[in-house]
Amino acid sequence: MPARVIDGRAVAAALNAGTARRIAVAGLAPRLSIVLAGNDPASAVYVRNKDRAARQVGVAVETIRLPASVSEMEVLGEVGRLNEERSVDGILVQLPLPGTIRQRAVIEAIDPAKDVDGLTAVNAGRLAGGAPFLVPCTPLGVMKLLAAADVSTSGARALVIGRSRLVGRPLALLLTAADATVTVAHSRTRDLPAECRRAEILIAATGRAELVRGDWIGTDAVVIDVGINRLADGRLTGDVAFAEALGVAGAITPVPGGVGPMTIACLLENTLKAALARRDQAG
Ligand code: NDP
Repeated sequence: MPARVIDGRAVAAALNAGTARRIAVAGLAPRLSIVLAGNDPASAVYVRNKDRAARQVGVAVETIRLPASVSEMEVLGEVGRLNEERSVDGILVQLPLPGTIRQRAVIEAIDPAKDVDGLTAVNAGRLAGGAPFLVPCTPLGVMKLLAAADVSTSGARALVIGRSRLVGRPLALLLTAADATVTVAHSRTRDLPAECRRAEILIAATGRAELVRGDWIGTDAVVIDVGINRLADGRLTGDVAFAEALGVAGAITPVPGGVGPMTIACLLENTLKAALARRDQAG
């Protein structure tokens, strides 16, 4: 039997509907500011998608566009201004930043109370310490997808391929907190196919198109494909060879239409969370 395809768009739509309801009930008008520097075409698409989804749930978005020639000082100045701006609840700096700008310096400049991408050391530390506040959106989206697809993580052997601060690392922490037995693989992992075959939950976040082949996947494994890769012919593909995986896995997320919409839905939920926390703080 072919694998069950987990519909990320449907799960994200339900999450967005809940966020919209909660915003209406709270009587809030959360505001998200996105800093977009340079001309990266993929970033422009992401920002457009975030903008569209935000309007639908009642989050006001402003995108601050800066030229590719912008200096680190100028970006830091913009972040500082948004930190001070009382009406701004969430700040997202779209990565990658151009040229020589130090991404870490810019991320750390964000007020942790407005860090809706959950990337500052303060929020990463809260997650690592077992008291999460704003959690990175993509890993959070993966956990919500697993829950929506009725995948039990407790005691399951989970493999996360990738150890980035944005995806792999926080995801490993979330899975551990959800009682999975977690292995983290990366570019130096000795026998990746063997690690994959052992996994009951396999999550690929490498940015390598179709790295994970069908015969690396254990029978009935749940496969979550975080990767978004643009092929030479313009098609989008994940980190998993989808057609091969369909014949082996128990369930799988497609690309596009899997993790991507969940990332945006979680960003909007985080913006609401930040807005509620700031209101409580002020109140
Ligand atoms: P990074 O480049 O920061 O990290 C990639 C990770 O994959 C690294 O840990 C790297 O290992 C590992 N890796 C690379 N090649 C291999 C390999 N051949 N075998 C095993 N491990 C490997 O990427 P991100 O974490 O930021 O993103 C990963 C993917 O997810 C990308 O395709 C990105 O576009 C996508 N993405 C999708 C989102 C969504 O909403 N769906 C959101 C964010 C990202 P090492 O540490 O050893 O270098």
